[in-house]
Amino acid sequence: MSGSPAASATRRARRALERAAAAVAAQHARDDGSVHLDLDDEPDLVVRTTVTTHLNAGAALLRAQRRFAESRDLTSLAEELVSEVHRCGHQRVLLLETVARSRHRELEVLAARGDILLVQGRRITGSDLTRMSPSAVVELVPGHPSAPRLAVWGVADTTTPTLEVLAAAGGASWRALVATADAQRADRESTSAQLLLSGALRLAGLGSWSWDPVTGVLRLDDRLREMLGRSASDPDPDLETWRAGVHPDDRGPFTGVEDPAAHAGTSAPYPFRVRSTDGTERTFLGMSVPLATTSSSVVQGLVLDVSAGEKSTGELVRLAQCDSLTGLANRSVMDIRLAEALEKATAVDAVALVLLDLDRFKLVNDTLGHQIGDALLRQVAVRLEDAAPPGATLARLGGDEFVVMVPGITRPEAASIMARDLLRRLRSPMLLPGLPEPFVCTSSAGIAVGHQGTADDLFRSADMALYRAKDGGRDRVAVYDSAMREQAQARRDAEHRVRRALRTDGLRVVWQPIVDLRDNRKLVAAEALVRLEDPVEGLLEPKHFVDTAEDTGLIVDVDTWVLGEALRQLREWRRADVDLQVSFNVSGKTLEHPAFAHRLAHSVESTGAAGTSLLCEVTERTLIDLSSTTRASLGELRSMGARVGLDDFGTGYSSLSYLDRFPLSFLKIDMSFVRPLGTSDRAEAVVRALISLAHAHGMVVTAEGVETELQATMLQDMGCDRGQGYLFGRPVDASLLPVGILGA
Ligand code: C2E
Ligand code: MG
Ligand code: MG
Repeated sequence: MSGSPAASATRRARRALERAAAAVAAQHARDDGSVHLDLDDEPDLVVRTTVTTHLNAGAALLRAQRRFAESRDLTSLAEELVSEVHRCGHQRVLLLETVARSRHRELEVLAARGDILLVQGRRITGSDLTRMSPSAVVELVPGHPSAPRLAVWGVADTTTPTLEVLAAAGGASWRALVATADAQRADRESTSAQLLLSGALRLAGLGSWSWDPVTGVLRLDDRLREMLGRSASDPDPDLETWRAGVHPDDRGPFTGVEDPAAHAGTSAPYPFRVRSTDGTERTFLGMSVPLATTSSSVVQGLVLDVSAGEKSTGELVRLAQCDSLTGLANRSVMDIRLAEALEKATAVDAVALVLLDLDRFKLVNDTLGHQIGDALLRQVAVRLEDAAPPGATLARLGGDEFVVMVPGITRPEAASIMARDLLRRLRSPMLLPGLPEPFVCTSSAGIAVGHQGTADDLFRSADMALYRAKDGGRDRVAVYDSAMREQAQARRDAEHRVRRALRTDGLRVVWQPIVDLRDNRKLVAAEALVRLEDPVEGLLEPKHFVDTAEDTGLIVDVDTWVLGEALRQLREWRRADVDLQVSFNVSGKTLEHPAFAHRLAHSVESTGAAGTSLLCEVTERTLIDLSSTTRASLGELRSMGARVGLDDFGTGYSSLSYLDRFPLSFLKIDMSFVRPLGTSDRAEAVVRALISLAHAHGMVVTAEGVETELQATMLQDMGCDRGQGYLFGRPVDASLLPVGILGA
C-alpha cells in the first residue's frame, strides 16, 4: 500500500509542505516578506504552483493568524486578517473550524459582509475533505461560483490530500493556501488543553456530562459514571433515562436541554437528587451551560457529589452563590435575578441596575494593606444592605465593584435619587479595624434603566454610565443615555487606532524647544511629544488618543515607544556633539507598570545615553496616587541620573504637599497661568509666587505656553529659569530643531 503512486505523491506533497512551512517560519524571522521555494524537483505534484505562488501570502497570514490567536482585540484583528487576504489578491477566505471556533461573533460579522466564508453547522476537517469528491467541496462554499478565488485557512489533520482535492476542484481559478504547521500545532494544543481540563476536573472531584442534540448522544465522563455506580463498560443512558433517574422534584434544571439554543443554562449551581445503580439516592450539585461552537451546539454540565460531605447541601449552595468576603450575592446569582426581573418588567415597571465602584480603591489596598481593603469592602456591603430599597438585589461582582438591582422603577430619576442616596451613605466616615482615624471613601455609580433586552445589555449600559461618572471626576452618579453608546464607539475607534499605530509603526515624535531664559534664550532642552499618523485622519495630536490609551493601558506601550525614540534621538545628538536635554511625558499608568523602570534602565544602558540628560515629566495625579510601584519607578529614574519634575502645575490640586512624598527637580507652570501675563496683575502675582515657591524648594521652573514677547520678558524679570512655547518654537521634527545655534 505504501508503494502506491497516490501514497507516494501524498508523501512527497507532505514533505514539500513541511519545507514550505519551515520556509515560512524562517521568513517570519527575517520578516522581509519574501520566500522563494523551489519545488521543481517534485514535477508531478498538483500542489506545486499553489504553494510557490502563495507562500508570501501564507507568511503574512500566518503572522495575522498568530496575532489573531493571541490578541484580545478581535475585531481589528479579524479586519486585519481580511485585509491581508485582500492585499494578497484573495477575495474571500474560507475559514474552517480551527480558527473560527473561539472567534465566532467577529467572524460572523465579517461573513455577513461577504469577506469571509464561514462553513458552519458541521465540523469539517482535512480528512473529511479528502473523502469528498471535488464537486462536493465546491458545493460547500456558499456563493460559489461567484467567489473567484479562495484561500483555505487552518485546515486541521491531513492537509496535503485536502490541498490536492481543492487544487483539482478549483482548477486555475482557485487558489489554495495552507498553514500546515499552525493547524497541527492548534490541534496539539487543543488536545493538551483537554487533558489539562480533565485533570482539573478530577482534582476538583467534579463529574461532567454533555448532550449533543444532533447525534442525540448523552456522554458521561468516567468520574460521573463512578458517582452513579456505573461501570466503564455500561453504555451511556439516553437523555430520557437520565432524566427519569433524577428525583421528580429536581428535574426543573434539566427541562429544555434538548434545544441548546433555547436552553439558557444554569450558571448558578442547583442541587438535585439522583438514584444510583445500587438504588441509593445521591445528592448532587449541578450546573449546565449551552456551548455553541461553529460546528455544533451542545449542553455541557458539571456535577459535584455532595451526599457524603459534612456540609449540608444548603450550605454548599449558599457558598456557591455568595461572595465569601461580603456575604452578598455573586455575579451568577445577579445574572439570574436580573434576567428574571427583566422578564417581568414593562415600560412603566422597569428594572434599574446601579453599578457602584469605589474611587481609588486600589490606593487603599496599596497604601493601607489588603486587610483594611477587605474591611472596607465588608463595611460597604453592610451600608448598601441598610440603604437599598426593599425588593433590591445586591451583589459584589469582584474587586470593589458592587451592583444594586431594583425592579418596579417607573422613572429613571427615581433610580438616580436612590443611587445618590447610596453614594451619600457610603461617603460618610467609617471606622475600620486597625485604622485610628475614621476613613472616608467616595464612590461612583452608573445607572441603566430598562425593561427590554438581555441582562448583558443592561450591564453594558450601566457600565458605560459608570465610565462617564468616573470620567466626570468620580464621586458622582451618571445615568445611561444613548449618546454614551456613541461615545463608547468613539473610544473603541480610538483604541483601535492606537493599537494599529503601535502595530504598524504609526507613532511619531515631534520636538518642542525649551530655552534658558537666564542665558540668552539658548536652546537647552526639547520635549518629546507624541503624534499618531492615522491612515485616514492624518497626523493626530495627543488629545485624540492619549486619554483612550490611558484608559486601556495602551499608554504603557506608547510611552515606552516614545522613550525609545527619545533615547535614539539623544544618541544622535550626542554623536553630532549637540548637548541637549530630552524631556518626556510619562503617564502614571506607565510608572505603575512594574517592568517599566527596569526596561528604561536597560534601554538607557544599551543606547549609551546619559541618564542625566533625561527630564521626566509627571502629572500631579501621578504624585497624588503615588503607589509603591510608582515610587520605585521614579526612584529608579533618579538613580540613573534623570530628573523628575511636575508638568502642567496649576491645573490640578496645585499644592506642593506631595514634595514630601517624592523629591522633584523641576516644575512646569501651566500655560493657563502664563497666558494672562501682561493683562492681569493677579496672574502676575500668582506666577511670581509660584516661581519663588519652587525656587525655595530648589526646583528649576519652566513656563509653558509662552506665546508673546511681553510674557517672555515678564517671566525673565520674575526670575523664571526656562521657557517653552510657540514664541520659541512649535513642536517640529527633530531635523527642524534649531540645534545649530548650540554649536555657535
Ligand atoms: P504637555 O506635556 O503639557 O505638552 C505641552 C503641550 O502644549 C503640547 O501639546 C504643546 O504642543 C502645547 N504647546 C506648547 N507651547 C504652546 C503654546 O505656546 N501655545 C499653545 N496653545 N500650546 C502650546 P500636545 O503636543 O498636543 O500635547 C498635549 C499633551 O499630551 C501633553 O501636554 C502631554 O500631557 C500629553 N503627551 C504628549 N506626548 C505624550 C507622551 O509621549 N506620553 C504621554 N503620556 N503623554 C503625552
Ligand atoms: Mg509635558
Ligand atoms: Mg505641560
